[in-house]
This record gives sequence, structure tokens and C-alpha cells, in this order.
Amino acid sequence: MEVHCQGCAGCCLDWRPLLEADDGRDVGGRGAARSGSSEDEQEGRTSRRVPLDGDYNFVALTRDEVRAFLESGAAPALTPRFWRVDDEREGVEIDGHRVAAVAGRPTFFVGLRKPPKPVAPFGREEPAWLPTCVFLDPTTLQCRIHDSDRFPDECGAYPEHNLALEQETECERVESQFGGERLLEAGHDDPEGLLLGPQALGAKLFCHPRPDDLEGIVDRLAAGELTPADRAECLAVAAASSPGTLATSPHHYERGYERALQTLEGSEDAAAGDSATVEDGEWVGPAIDEWHRRRAAAGGTVPSPSIARTVEERRGAPETPGWDALE
Ligand code: SF4
Repeated sequence: MEVHCQGCAGCCLDWRPLLEADDGRDVGGRGAARSGSSEDEQEGRTSRRVPLDGDYNFVALTRDEVRAFLESGAAPALTPRFWRVDDEREGVEIDGHRVAAVAGRPTFFVGLRKPPKPVAPFGREEPAWLPTCVFLDPTTLQCRIHDSDRFPDECGAYPEHNLALEQETECERVESQFGGERLLEAGHDDPEGLLLGPQALGAKLFCHPRPDDLEGIVDRLAAGELTPADRAECLAVAAASSPGTLATSPHHYERGYERALQTLEGSEDAAAGDSATVEDGEWVGPAIDEWHRRRAAAGGTVPSPSIARTVEERRGAPETPGWDALE
């Protein structure tokens, strides 16, 4: 497989707002084949599961990746995804939503958040505010953790995942909307390696053992208003999960909850101004908060993507090499 990523990042952000008019085309995004999409539902196609959130190109993380992000102080980078189902045999009722479940336990993914950032993908002259992966450098449109041991498996396997599942890739969606050649050669691995089906349980698809504890959380997730405690609850269950089973470890749950809450409620801008003392992911939470503040204050204006040096790198975010360095 060979892709041309320079100036794109189509699989790391939600570029749908750039479309002048939605022509009904399926832009279900990464993972749509597994989780269904609201577009599927609107168009009457069979859709077993519809995400409760509106996030596009959700990057589902493994249990070990969730644990590693928690330990590095990057809990604010993470968010849960639950699904609504139509069939009452496949779900449990929480906050008025029928939530997908296995053996009565609500199921969920944990993925990466997309705060608003000023970005100019696809050769655009002017930047636009778009929901953008917390780890994407808006200036270079490169991943800040690409060469680190935190780089998610799912990002490393994309777009091969979609090719193996015989689904359209993000590269092809970008090509069809904005032109250019992104997917240069479409080889792919065997779908056996995709961590789908029962082997995903506890490894990538997590099951909450106490559905009653999710009351209120499901409503706030659907409204985009999760609290730090809501996130900590889901991240802790994911970190405590056991691959291939429905079991969770109380020890890992408590450790995960404490660690998540510690950074999710951590002092605002604790990391600002002294990058020498910043450990790993502790820049993430304050940077996300500042992106949201700037977006709310910006009105109709869009700053240069280079403002990310102040918002992210000043707090300790890893720099990216730029494309010249890769040629
Ligand atoms: S982790 Fe990196 S490659 Fe994955 S979506 Fe985020 S910016 Fe893109």
C-alpha cells in the first residue's frame, strides 16, 4: 500500500464542514463499516449500531494503549464511544437511549478527542476551524506521536483496515471531493488481523460491568457535555478490562480512575511555560481547553495554524519534522 499524505490529514480531522453542500455522499469515515453511521440511518441502509456522539474518523484504542495514555498524563486526549441500537435484544436502556450491550453490559470504544484547531488541508489557502485530532500538528498536518511508542495501532493500520473490509478509504473520499491522488497503491493485509469479533472484547471493545453507573453519563455523552468524572469512569473500566473476557480488575479500575481524574481535573495550565518539567502527555489537557476557549472567542475569524506553537508546543507537545525533512 502506498499513500500520499502531504497536505492531507483527511483521516485525522473532520473535514465534512468544508463541503459546500452535502450531496448525500456517504462520508461515514474510518470505522464506519464496523459501527454504522448516522448517514446510514438517514439513507435507510441497514445499520446495527449508531454512535451516540457525532465524532468523525474515531480512532479506537486498545486496552494497553488506554493504559499507556493514562500513565503518561494524557487522559484528557481520550473519550468513550457508545452506540444506540434499534433491536432491544442487543441493548440496555440507559437515560432513554437503547445502548449496545453484550450480556447486559454496555459496550464502548475509547478513542482520541478532536478539539477545534485552525487547519488548511487539501491545498486550501485559508485555514478553517475543524475538529482535529488532539495529536495532529495544524502547521505541518503531521502526527506529533507518529514515531513514538504511543502511536495507535489503528492509525498505523489505516487505510488498510478499510481496504481489507472492502470499504471506501478516507483517501478515496478526499480524492473524490478535493481531487489529487492520495491512495497510490491499494494493497492490504489479511482481515484476520483486525481485532474484530469476539477477540475484540476487553481488548478494544470494552464492557461496563455496572450499567447503573452510566446513568447520566450516556445523556451527557449524547449532548457533548461529558464531565471529567464521566470520562474517568469509562477510561478506568477500559484500563481494567481483560482481553477476550467480560471481566474487569478492581485494582486496575481504581488505579485507572485515580490517574484519569488526576489529570482530567489537573490544575489549568500547570504545564504552561516550563516545558522542561512537563512529562509526556501533560500538555494535552491544557491545550484542548485553550483550543476550545480560542474557538469560542474567535467568532468568524480563523488564526494561522502556526498558533499551535503557542497552544501546544509551548506546553511540551512534541514537534513534527515538516515534509521537507522527509524528502
Ligand atoms: S494519532 Fe496521529 S495519525 Fe492517529 S488520528 Fe491522531 S494525528 Fe492522525
